Amino acid sequence: MTAPTRAKLADGRDILFFALPGHPPQPVPDRRPLPPRDKQHSELRFDRTTGQWVIIAALRQDRTYKPPPDQCPLCPGPTGLTSEVPARDYDVVVFENRFPSLSGAGGLSPVGDGFASAPGHGRCEVICFSGNHTGSFAGLQAPHARLVVEAWRHRTAELLSQPGIEQVFCFENRGEEIGVTLTHPHGQIYGYPYLTPRTATMLHQAREHRIRHGNNLFHDLLAHEVADGGRIIARSDLFTAFVPFAARWPVEVHIYPNRFVPSLIELDADELDGFAQLYLDVLRRFDRMYPSPLPYISALHQYTDAQPEGYFHVELMSIRRSAAALKYLAGSESAMDAFISDVTPESVAERLQELA
Ligand SMILES: [Zn+2]
Repeated sequence: MTAPTRAKLADGRDILFFALPGHPPQPVPDRRPLPPRDKQHSELRFDRTTGQWVIIAALRQDRTYKPPPDQCPLCPGPTGLTSEVPARDYDVVVFENRFPSLSGAGGLSPVGDGFASAPGHGRCEVICFSGNHTGSFAGLQAPHARLVVEAWRHRTAELLSQPGIEQVFCFENRGEEIGVTLTHPHGQIYGYPYLTPRTATMLHQAREHRIRHGNNLFHDLLAHEVADGGRIIARSDLFTAFVPFAARWPVEVHIYPNRFVPSLIELDADELDGFAQLYLDVLRRFDRMYPSPLPYISALHQYTDAQPEGYFHVELMSIRRSAAALKYLAGSESAMDAFISDVTPESVAERLQELA
């Protein structure tokens, strides 16, 4: 696995540089007079009506909001005074979020039997896909995209090895339409101290499927999609991208390795290349759908040895439903979690197939 160059930011946070061959990172000392890291954690509160934790992270209200491009905190800062990334240049960098929703070690230790709460332990990292402020993931060269995948892989393995982290979630929010406050191409990596509700639900479904059918749920769904063929967007020897049968979003694409693996960690070198290539292919189709780039969320679903039914895959989704309109999560979706889609998954797949 790629070994990053490690350094510390002025307030003690970790920063890791991942570099392309022949382009060693050039970190400089972080000379900013940053205040000490807030020892005050966020708080987890347990919602007994749903059985789900809610993260109360009030300190995030002060975070950087849409700075002008010349004050971007994710651009390389060669003086060590202007940026979260004190370096002359970089390819891919990961650092601890200055305004984390989850921080500190200790795992999930609930207190209280009426109102149950817990310290917001865990880890929140920022991953910058490129030092280029105006780029996007879709615009990366294949070796650079592969380097991002390597960084995701490294962080997944390292965070899962830390006590108290139950789930690692690598994701990208792209586009102001979905609330991105910094336009520099970047994503985030969360280490949760508990299994997230969606993952818990999916694993429950997979266990039920195993009992009824004796097979892995995700493997069977992939086989059904391939046999049907109508919603397949792109397929290689190693990976398959499709619009799922029961898509909930105006644009939704899932990417699976053709071979069962629980996470990026188990992919071999060819598969890592193949993943980067198919992922870029899908993102580039997204950006050809409308006159302006598609806002999207990209979610990597990864599992551990403790979740033997978990099949690594990526779920991409967009709220854009036409050139002019966004889908908002209104009453049925927000209040009841009952999704209503205005488009058929087959029509979205057909459109994405044409955009090759
Ligand atoms: Zn920038």
